[in-house]
Amino acid sequence: MIQFINVSKEYKNGAKALSNVNLSIKKGEFVFLVGPSGAGKSTIIKLILKEEDPTEGKIYLGDTDITKVKNRKIPYIRRKVGVVFQDFRLLPNKTVYENIAFAMEIVGAHPKEIRRNVPMVLSMVDLSRKAYCYPDELSGGEHQRVAIARAIVNSPPILIADEPTGNLDPETAWGIMEVLRDINRRGTTVLMATHAKDIVDVMKKRVIAIESGKIVRDEEKGVYEHEI
Ligand code: ADP
Ligand code: ADP
Repeated sequence: MIQFINVSKEYKNGAKALSNVNLSIKKGEFVFLVGPSGAGKSTIIKLILKEEDPTEGKIYLGDTDITKVKNRKIPYIRRKVGVVFQDFRLLPNKTVYENIAFAMEIVGAHPKEIRRNVPMVLSMVDLSRKAYCYPDELSGGEHQRVAIARAIVNSPPILIADEPTGNLDPETAWGIMEVLRDINRRGTTVLMATHAKDIVDVMKKRVIAIESGKIVRDEEKGVYEHEI
């Protein structure tokens, strides 16, 4: 589903963010990406979203080498990969419903499809009753649920979550993890970058650890870190 082959990334200022990264994530996996600040986690995510291109190497989403795909922000990537961020990034002047509908409009979905899918994903994240609220009327956990609904409304096979619980208290964070686990159980591949040690240690999912741009550990049912 996601494959990095000998991927290196050097930013224009000379910062070497990734060196010779190889990783392979299969359809339906739930993977935590961990590592200290500056390790390269966000760079991996930006490469998958094609917000950046690698300096070297190939990146496959399914059968497609996205380093060969010409346009940035193309609907192709939007349909393959949903994404949620630590800071939610909802559009403040749109209602919950409109925020989610907008993600479908961007990829050219049919209005009929929009009217069907938006209520469906709102119900999945248990927020049907907030459809006509604006973001400033929502709690942090509700913000993130809307962001998740927006990320999955185009039924992408891959969901990326970049520190999705970083701004939430522990109880709310666990609610978000339940939503992500449900989405994963329905078959979506989930890749989550996180510093939430407690969550990683309890979930017992695959853990890929990265330090200074290199993968240093890749374990099934892994932990956040090993005691030294
Ligand atoms: P993480 O997400 O694990 O904190 P990043 O992928 O953001 O790590 O950063 C990896 C390295 O690349 C760091 O040294 C960081 O300073 C550098 N870096 C990240 N983004 C940029 C950028 N846009 N321009 C230059 N250097 C960057
Ligand atoms: P910008 O360039 O200002 O971030 P975009 O058009 O890229 O605006 O994105 C519009 C909104 O959709 C933003 O809030 C962004 O966080 C969100 N978004 C971007 N990519 C995706 C994606 N693949 N799936 C879901 N939402 C996304």
